[in-house]
Amino acid sequence: MSDTNRTRILVVEDEPMIAEAVRDRLRGEGFETEIAADGEAALAYVDRAPVDLVVLDLGLPGIDGIEVCRRLQGRRRTPVVMLTARDDETDMLIGLGVGADDYLTKPFSPRELVARIRAVLRRVDDRPRTEDDEWWFGGLHLHAATRRVVGADGEIHLTPTEFDLLRALAGARGAVLDRRNLLEQVWGYTDGSGHRTVDSHIRAVRRKVGDDVVRTVHGVGYAIDGVTNRPPATSGGDHS
Ligand code: CA
Repeated sequence: MSDTNRTRILVVEDEPMIAEAVRDRLRGEGFETEIAADGEAALAYVDRAPVDLVVLDLGLPGIDGIEVCRRLQGRRRTPVVMLTARDDETDMLIGLGVGADDYLTKPFSPRELVARIRAVLRRVDDRPRTEDDEWWFGGLHLHAATRRVVGADGEIHLTPTEFDLLRALAGARGAVLDRRNLLEQVWGYTDGSGHRTVDSHIRAVRRKVGDDVVRTVHGVGYAIDGVTNRPPATSGGDHS
């Protein structure tokens, strides 16, 4: 009988050498780990036996990693670390708002994968904190406890990472956060390859909330100006 408290990870990868190397390493780290060789098998597995995290290769036979990720998000919101073949693929996925919790480009070191997985699991654990943080800025209303962002045209749907990024910047209330700081706060690590991940997510956030909300401080990082704890006074016919 396995210990039901152990963290369960599913590795979805069609290359057996990579799949087995990753599985063996994760088992060595104490994770209960199984392999699915394609998307259909992965979704069937997760339906049968929910897992705590999925390591998901982008390039799979049959339904690809993007679609698998979307379907995983639509179910019980299973955390995903996505494996890609190139950095520009990662940028593309972030741009599409695929919503994986982190991305790692092949070839990667097993040690880095384990560090990313642990960081994602920590973030997911930390998420349902009861906090009343609520901010208004740039025509948006961000409510931390419900993880909602509402703009003039209604709710704006952000991926979990996009939301965490916007919240980190809003919470700094005008202070400039550099990429390292954002990596630490949002992704839970600071190692080198993450800087372009920050930039790609900033672009994705801007596409959804508007270009002017997040200010680029060249050579330093990003900031959000004009953050308040109360709704701004409305003009026109609003009597409140
Ligand atoms: Ca593959």
